[in-house]
Amino acid sequence: MERLLIKGGTVATMEPGDRPRPADVLVEDGVIAAVEPALTADAEVVDADGCIVLPGLVDTHRHVWQAGLRGLTADAVLKDYFRGIRFQASALYRPEDIEVGNLAGMLEAIDAGVTTVLDFSHAISTPDHADAAIDGTLESGIRSQFAVGFSDVPGQDEALSSAEGRLALARRLREGRLSADDALVTLGIALSDLPEVGIERIREELTGARRLGLRSTTNGLAILFHDPVDDLAVFDEAGLLGPDLVWVHLNYATTEQLRRVADTGGAVATCTEAEMAMGMGRPATERVLEAGGHCTFGCDVTTSVSGNLLQQARTAMQVARLLGADERMAGGRAPESVPPSCETMLKAATVWGAEALGQADRIGSLRPGKQADVIVVRGDAVNTAAVHDPYATVISQAHPGNIDTVVIAGRIRKRGGVLTADWESVRRRLEKSKEYIAAAVAERGGFFPRPPLDLPW
Ligand SMILES: [Zn+2]
Repeated sequence: MERLLIKGGTVATMEPGDRPRPADVLVEDGVIAAVEPALTADAEVVDADGCIVLPGLVDTHRHVWQAGLRGLTADAVLKDYFRGIRFQASALYRPEDIEVGNLAGMLEAIDAGVTTVLDFSHAISTPDHADAAIDGTLESGIRSQFAVGFSDVPGQDEALSSAEGRLALARRLREGRLSADDALVTLGIALSDLPEVGIERIREELTGARRLGLRSTTNGLAILFHDPVDDLAVFDEAGLLGPDLVWVHLNYATTEQLRRVADTGGAVATCTEAEMAMGMGRPATERVLEAGGHCTFGCDVTTSVSGNLLQQARTAMQVARLLGADERMAGGRAPESVPPSCETMLKAATVWGAEALGQADRIGSLRPGKQADVIVVRGDAVNTAAVHDPYATVISQAHPGNIDTVVIAGRIRKRGGVLTADWESVRRRLEKSKEYIAAAVAERGGFFPRPPLDLPW
């Protein structure tokens, strides 16, 4: 039996009713065996003295393949991102570019304390691209729900241009390498965007996903498109809402609609930085909470923003506080409180993220029997000591450099602040991929050709 003992830290289990307390975490064969003070075992020891021990963070919306395109759309609105990345760069990606993009992007996530990612993988122009994305993910060692993209990619295999063709690919993965629901990498579906394809195609995709026993995720930003579509209303009218759906970017959903999503068991991913950076509007965090739902976070696009999930939680909290205070001030009164709390944001980044992925029974909190996805955050660093409230330290102060250790399914993926993967060799592969993509894009007039590419809607 392989044993790991994380010893001497302050443990925030994120289990309901638990408060942070001094305890050790014993891991046996990748599973949490005990969370108690003063444990002893014949085990490899991770010294967590001076540290905060938490469940690994869960990112509910990220396009991991884009790691080689970092920063390209940092000053761009969403439509330019669509032109430059979705309908330009993605079409030029080869399987090897996706593979190293996924590997590098997942290592970035691990470095920042993220142990699970819902990977919205929408540059799948051939079946080989899907396999390459999975290969890169597996090489990183992260836990992932690989949501195979159903959106069209310019130049894609003809067979992938229909829902039937995309479902055949999903079925092959479901019956093949991603058949297990308890594996480190599981399968899901990233639906097409409603304004591009219409509700009947969405119905075909979602019904097909449900037949295969797969969860789905979808963008809710259709109101930003040329002909605004109230996608939540359209899904609802079509009877397609459900507990197996993660909605992304519900910036313009009403409180009533957010309540409807919560009531049907659906989840909401807020991508705080991307939504504000790219002109998608006000993040929905506090409105999801007001509607009785559980907010979760995703980094979305490292072409525009950081891959730091704590940053998404922190920014969401401060924006919610700003908006709440603004409303009070407009009424001539200073606020008496500043919700949401650091504890709520940490729940969103851990246990609620696990719920959104349908994996709350396996991950998201530190409970015996759950998978050992554990992170150790330094509380003795120049920017974190002295710790009074571990939730506050993690949400308000910590950065990826403070993440000392990352354990995923019992395997150490970062230790002493350093990734166990050989980043230098991954970086060399990523740079090669970047050179190819940059040259291929330049031949076609650059990432943002003028006049702009016509958008397909
Ligand atoms: Zn996205």
